Amino acid sequence: MAFSGLDIYKLLPKTNCRECGLVTCLAFAMQLAKKAASIDKCPYLSTEAKKALEESALAPIKLITIGTGNSKLEVGNETVLFRHEEKFHHPCGLGFIIEDSLGDSEIKERLDKINKLVFERVGQELKVNLVAVRQTGDKEKFIRATELVFNNTQLGLVLMSEETEALKEALIKVRERKPLIYHATLENMAVVSKLAQEFQCPLVATALDLDKLSSLTRELNSQGVGELVLDVGATSLKDKIWDLTQIRRRALKKSDRSLGYPTLSIIENEDPYEETMEAATCIAKYANIVLIKGIEPAEVLSLLTLRQNIYTDPQKPLQIEPKLYPVGKAGDKSPVLVTTNFSLTYYTVLGEVEASKIPSFIISVDTEGMSVLTGWAAEKFTPEKITDSINKAGLAEVVSHKRLIIPGYVAVMSGDLEDKSGWQVVVGPKEAAGIPSFLKNL
Ligand code: SF4
Repeated sequence: MAFSGLDIYKLLPKTNCRECGLVTCLAFAMQLAKKAASIDKCPYLSTEAKKALEESALAPIKLITIGTGNSKLEVGNETVLFRHEEKFHHPCGLGFIIEDSLGDSEIKERLDKINKLVFERVGQELKVNLVAVRQTGDKEKFIRATELVFNNTQLGLVLMSEETEALKEALIKVRERKPLIYHATLENMAVVSKLAQEFQCPLVATALDLDKLSSLTRELNSQGVGELVLDVGATSLKDKIWDLTQIRRRALKKSDRSLGYPTLSIIENEDPYEETMEAATCIAKYANIVLIKGIEPAEVLSLLTLRQNIYTDPQKPLQIEPKLYPVGKAGDKSPVLVTTNFSLTYYTVLGEVEASKIPSFIISVDTEGMSVLTGWAAEKFTPEKITDSINKAGLAEVVSHKRLIIPGYVAVMSGDLEDKSGWQVVVGPKEAAGIPSFLKNL
């Protein structure tokens, strides 16, 4: 756990000698707590104090990288239990299990579908991250399936096998992709840890309870393997959530380094709704990687949308640049719709304007990412701000009319806006869904 300024102060010599450049040891402690100073600046730190401070500066949950290049997945390095305390930093990786019992054409077909699982939502691209190849039969089939996956997707790889020799041969084929190796257990760790070291790949550590998992990671660390992902192998959703929460809690609140790694959850349910629900629960608390079997876009999009929402900064709403946006071949006679720069609002309005097929302009006002009613209530979406936005955008030079369409929810400001801006104000629909018919009848 990161030390507070006072915790750090207790470890300092308290002589106020000023050699660190600060007037007191307390001032230096406060700078260290804010990560605005380095411990090397104090030449009088004891070895024990230095070690304690260095350890406290380590991330409580280690950052682990799977894969390389544009498809690499980074998970971990989380610092809080609750999103409102700060933010979650590295979005949960979503991957799909492909079993080697499938035929070549079925594997290729599934990979083709997986590769197409890319969506755009509120201006961001939502993508899946991993493909896990699982051995179910003989080694040759596993190697063949691994090669097929390697050759037909650029996504990160997970190699799942209970056979060390099969893992080794698969690793030889795909080592350049830096796959995640599944898995080391208390029984096989001596051999599997050597593979992780030889191929420089991250390794999943699996044990059936947290104390055994803790012993396993300590043992793996002592063998020189530190790039770990934790798996408690729980089968029921209730046990999964309990374990995931305890791992996060022990790492963050108890500074338990043996559990300070990202976690993996494997969800397999023949019912796609159940599978989506279980995966969503694990994404929310606190899996860092979720592997599922379902590859249907409806299932995947709902999980990616949830992930996007959880991993945005709650203190910074998603925003777009406040400016004038043409939609379609907008010209000087095109209507001008006014909205805010909250991404969700803007893209909802944009979608409806596009659906109307009437070339238009949308002017997004800087409301610091607030939606229409919130912005209006917080005095960020006001006649003054809208006037300022249309002046900055030079709207009078872009269109040959002087008419603005404002959201129906802020009809109350129409008179004031006309006075302040000198533009005629037309009150539009309250809901974006009403925009197409509104524009057609304008
Ligand atoms: S150099 Fe060390 S002992 Fe001297 S004031 Fe700074 S923190 Fe205190």
